[in-house]
Order: sequence, then C-alpha cells, then structure tokens
Amino acid sequence: MKKQILPLTVAGTMLVSGSFLTGNTVLAGDNGPNGPNYGGNETIKNERLHSYEEMVSFLEKVDKRSEALELEVYGQSVKGRDLYLAKFGTMNEDNPTILFLTQQHGNEALTTEGALEMIKYLSSNGKNVQDILENVNVLIAPRLNVDGAEGDVDFSLEDYVSGTHTRYNANGVDLNRDHVDREQPETKALHENILQKYQPDYMIDLHHQGTQTTLGDTGELVSGSILYPTNESVDPTVVEQSKQLGAVVYNAVDAKGYGLLSKYPGGSAPTISRNGLAMEYGIATLLFEMRGMADHYRDDYVLGQKSNGYLIQQAVTAMKASLEALADDSIDSTDTSFWDTLPESNYDGE
Ligand SMILES: [Zn+2]
Repeated sequence: MKKQILPLTVAGTMLVSGSFLTGNTVLAGDNGPNGPNYGGNETIKNERLHSYEEMVSFLEKVDKRSEALELEVYGQSVKGRDLYLAKFGTMNEDNPTILFLTQQHGNEALTTEGALEMIKYLSSNGKNVQDILENVNVLIAPRLNVDGAEGDVDFSLEDYVSGTHTRYNANGVDLNRDHVDREQPETKALHENILQKYQPDYMIDLHHQGTQTTLGDTGELVSGSILYPTNESVDPTVVEQSKQLGAVVYNAVDAKGYGLLSKYPGGSAPTISRNGLAMEYGIATLLFEMRGMADHYRDDYVLGQKSNGYLIQQAVTAMKASLEALADDSIDSTDTSFWDTLPESNYDGE
C-alpha cells in the first residue's frame, strides 16, 4: 500500500480520562456502524486506551485478587517489554483450549480493551463464569505488539494521524506476516511459549480494519469482518471447525443492534496466523476485524472515540459467545451454511 502524507488535524484536542473498564455501557444510536467517522472533525482520544504500563498494572491487580486468573510472562518484545498471557480454567486436557490473541498490529487497540474486559469478567467468579471455566481452558494474550502500540519503534510516525500507534513492531516488521519464519521475538515467544506449550484447539485473532468497509455492494458500513483459514493445505476438518467458530461469533454479533459483519477478503499466505496456525498446529482459527483503528497514516482508517464503546463490546460479545459454545459443546453442532451467502467486504469511496 502506498503511504500517504496527511495533515495533522487532530493535535491539541486530547483529553485524559479514565479507562473503558469502569463502565459497561453499550453506546447506541448514532454510534453503530453507520455512525460517526473520524472524518477530520471528531477528536481522537487515544489516552483513554490502556497504555502498556496501565495494562500491566491492570493485569497485576486482577491477578492479585483473583484465584481464577493465572498470569504469566511468556516473552519480551524487541524493546524488552514483557508479554503477558492470562490463563483461566483447569487446563485439563479433556477440555477444549481457546486462545484470544489481540493487537498483533499495534494500532488496532480496541481488541485489547475487549480482552481486558474479558479478563475482568472471567475473574468475577459468577455462576456462568464457573460453568465456562470448568469446561474450557482459556488463554488470553493481549497486545502482542506492545512496542508498536506505544509508538516506541525505530522508525518515524510523523505521517500518522495521531502519531501514537503503529501496525509494525519496533523493527518495522508486520508480526502477522511472521508466523512461518518467526524472526521477531514477539512471534517467536507466541509460538514457543503459548502455541506449542498449551496447544490451543481454537483461536480468535482480533484485529481492526479501515472505517469504510461495506457489506458487499450494499453500501452499508459493517461493524466488522470475519474469515476462516483459506490456505488449501489446511485440514478440511479444521476449516469446518473454524467455520463453526465463525458461525458462533456471527450469530452472537448479528443479534446486537450494532452488529453487521461481512466476509473478510483475506489471502491464503501461511505467514498470516489465521492460515499458518491452522496449517502447522491444526488450530481452528477465526480472524475478526473490527471497524476502524486508533491510528494510521490514512485518515480513512482512523475512527473517532465515539465508536469505541460498541466496538469493544463487539469483541467481548464474540469472546463470550465462543466460550459458551465451547462450554456446552454447542459449537460442534453449529450450522455453517451462512458462510455460503455472507457477502464479502467491499469499500465505500475507494
Ligand atoms: Zn491487524
């Protein structure tokens, strides 16, 4: 993609405020997929997102007061930041294990806000949570690209809209194209210390895309896009399980007022985790792309903060629905035929 130089139109409008986790409000009305864009007149308040330091202090705080959570450092980033894995459940081998992975791309931040909300939920000791954790092993790896999310990288972000977050890691590498060679410390740690060690059966890989993605040629802006592994060497059983995971997510999100999902037009490269993890380990994988992102050098990719509430809830809805469907085994009988008619993403105005 060609880099575009854009004017910095949002400087000086930042506000410091509390975290998203203090409230559970789902924003309604004009904040759905057809709601406000960044569009040059909405402010970007990335300070509201958890910084690395705030994320770590949140994780440590929850770990201290929860017996359900086991917190583990599974590696370090290029810049030496610890990478955290939150583990829940008995880790009994008879139970299915699912991994929720967020922010391989540092500018795709709300997925991590959703993951932190899930960590809080799974630490809550409610009856529903106990049912889940007796039957499912849950791994949550929030923010793989901790350096890119801090903007602490060895290249310039001066042409980014906000200049706070980047897709790439500190070495300028796209971590979601490094799942075969694993040359970066973040991907190497993920593979050796999570994927090979805990051998998840399922994974949802949470991302963000641009703001102008539409449902086919309907012109309707989507709240997100999903896709299963598409490399032809993936075992068909694994593809079917991936489609079932996608169906569970689709049904849950589609039931929400803000939910409108398209089929992501993704490639088949094994360097992408959706494909590579399915091929190498037989993990049933689902890519879930949320609308908009925290920062980019293209301003039509950046979404103002008014949409953050529903996008975080969309990620939480997807994760909760997956856990419930795994806990009661209903995922195994979930119908996948919707995939045959789900319109692929299109783009508005490009
Ligand atoms: Zn991404």
